[in-house]
Amino acid sequence: MRRRAVFADRDGTIIEDRYYVADPADVALIPGATAALRKMRELGFALVVVTNQSGIGRGLYTLADYRSVAAETERQLARAGMAVDATYFCPDGPGGDPRRTCRKPSPVMYRKAARDLELELSNSYFIGDKRSDVLPARKLGGTGILVRTGHGAMHADGLDDDFRVVDDLAAAAELIGRLESGGESPGRSPAP
Ligand SMILES: [Mg+2]
Repeated sequence: MRRRAVFADRDGTIIEDRYYVADPADVALIPGATAALRKMRELGFALVVVTNQSGIGRGLYTLADYRSVAAETERQLARAGMAVDATYFCPDGPGGDPRRTCRKPSPVMYRKAARDLELELSNSYFIGDKRSDVLPARKLGGTGILVRTGHGAMHADGLDDDFRVVDDLAAAAELIGRLESGGESPGRSPAP
């Protein structure tokens, strides 16, 4: 049987979004993120980081800069005893052909992860601080959860109600726990 996955955005979701994180010295895990990932792992999900890195395509930083930030993120997670199963990044800037770019909300990175790791995309979770992080849930069949960290507070306003909105990755893990135990139905967020 194919494993289900939690697809989590990186900047503003797992680490603080410091406006194009390009220096390992700027990497800071969001409080509770490691414990949240551990909880998702314990629920049986593969953990996949899916990140748009348009700063590469825009010429703001290099692939090597990206790699050193990714390595520092992994190092900080490892220090807390966590590791994700895989990380996918898209270097494209905005404005490319939407049918060709890997840039989220394109399904390209998710489909590649599904092939590489034998994942079931439908019934997976799609988490991030932007609308483009949760939109793939609609196309691929899964649950999109917007976190209010990073740019999330801004993107939560007017977000379509087939997506869920929570405070942070820790709250997302708790929501997934409730959904998985049947304690809450997916889809529409409760009215505020
Ligand atoms: Mg983000």
